[in-house]
Amino acid sequence: MELSGKIAIVPGASRGIGRAIAVELAAAGCRVVINYRNGANEAETLATQLPGSLAVQADVSTTDGCEYLFKAAEALGPVDILVNKAGITDDTLMLRMTDDQWDRVLNVNASGPFRMTRAVLPGMVSRRAGTIINIVSVSGIRGNAGQVNYGASKAAVISMTQSLAKEIARRNIRVNAVAPGFISTDMTARLPDEVIQGATAAIPMRRVGKPEEVAPLVRFLCGPGASYITGQVFAVDGGLTA
Ligand code: NAD
Repeated sequence: MELSGKIAIVPGASRGIGRAIAVELAAAGCRVVINYRNGANEAETLATQLPGSLAVQADVSTTDGCEYLFKAAEALGPVDILVNKAGITDDTLMLRMTDDQWDRVLNVNASGPFRMTRAVLPGMVSRRAGTIINIVSVSGIRGNAGQVNYGASKAAVISMTQSLAKEIARRNIRVNAVAPGFISTDMTARLPDEVIQGATAAIPMRRVGKPEEVAPLVRFLCGPGASYITGQVFAVDGGLTA
């Protein structure tokens, strides 16, 4: 297996896309640190299904939460892979958006990956090895009405991906971003039917995606086949941004 024995932290892995990524990385041989904020049962159950994995509760929007999660992972051994995937939405039109809605979404979606990356980076730099994948969104590439906070948070992480890749490429650390389009998870299940139908009509493949259709790309980007790929953003969106 191409990632045999590697330790991977996946923030926000109790369900949805993060869960699928945890399953895929474990299938590639990783020991996965399954982080969650809520949903202890789902995370603990998943940990029992993936050999050598560990479920850790921590809020990755805080520095303390990130340090705690990193230390729990490091107790298993050196951290080779970080997949920044924890994310939230709090959609409304700009005219109605409160400071709290803006701050909360930016804090989890943009400051979270920044703080988590800062926690894992010193070890990766000293070992001259590691890979970081940021799960962003097509909303961060081309915007989406009702999501000025969410789109801005994901655009920030796309830029962080590109800048950090340039900073640490010489240290043999790769940083890439994966931008899902419309994927069927709890995050999208909350949307009204007409929004889902409208979104589907705009997708060239005329269907929403599944978490299992995002995770294989993350596995590939973490592995040896992607050894010369860094600073890139890959959409997985049924052709939406084509
Ligand atoms: P989801 O709501 O199903 O899962 C979110 C996960 O993040 C949960 O495990 C939750 O516990 C965790 N989480 C949230 N805040 C956290 C925090 N502060 N600390 C730790 N964990 C936290 O979401 P999903 O649809 O699987 O989305 C996952 C990621 O993919 C997000 O970054 C999202 O922006 C992105 N994304 C999703 C879609 C989609 O259509 N579903 C599209 C594009 C991008």
